[in-house]
Amino acid sequence: MSLQLSIIVILSVVVSWYLLPMALRRISERRLAAACRHSRSIVLSIDDGPSKVLSAEILESLERNNIRASFFLLGRNVRADPSQAQALAEAGHEIGSHTFDHANGWKSSPVRWAQDFSQGRREVRGILGDDSHLFRPPYGKLSLAGLIQAYANRTRLCWWTIDTKDTMQRLSANEVLRRLDREGGGVVLLHDLDRGEGQNGTLSHSEYVIDLIDKIAAFSRENGYRIVTFGDLDLG
Ligand SMILES: [Zn+2]
Repeated sequence: MSLQLSIIVILSVVVSWYLLPMALRRISERRLAAACRHSRSIVLSIDDGPSKVLSAEILESLERNNIRASFFLLGRNVRADPSQAQALAEAGHEIGSHTFDHANGWKSSPVRWAQDFSQGRREVRGILGDDSHLFRPPYGKLSLAGLIQAYANRTRLCWWTIDTKDTMQRLSANEVLRRLDREGGGVVLLHDLDRGEGQNGTLSHSEYVIDLIDKIAAFSRENGYRIVTFGDLDLG
């Protein structure tokens, strides 16, 4: 094979394996943002649960504010604590899958990822019966094989538009509210995991999450936004 042909083959593989799913993700994110903007909607999407402590606190906060959220559960956590997963579903929140073991679609082999995807869906469906078709890829990463598998299983890919970075350097609550205001709503990403306490006077992860949910709920009431789930959003 000539050098030129080799380069073309390698580029084609990279484009279709990584860049095509990324491009489709960008298109979906834009549609999500537009759907939120047109209906003045906010989706609270919460990944990685259920957790031993924070899940219950989030449930309380959602109930206090009389709003629903979309939870993307990890199969391993559902298996470890099925009653907590059940409690989220029974409280009327939307439930989707987030794989079993949080496999990264770009770093795992297609076979390993496919197993993680299927096992995660089985755990969530065990809690809900047979009607969960929502899926959020861990790290937002999908390869072409993962994309094909997700579509073949008729799952709806649920991306986000505002990453609070709650597990890392964190956007301030004000910054999240400013973005919601500027972008006319959006899909907010948070995490349901037990992280321990904050240091040097900063909020712990759980305090940050609960504070932000309360502030977003207040913002939506004061500014005429609806807090909805993915199922409520009309993507046109
Ligand atoms: Zn995750």
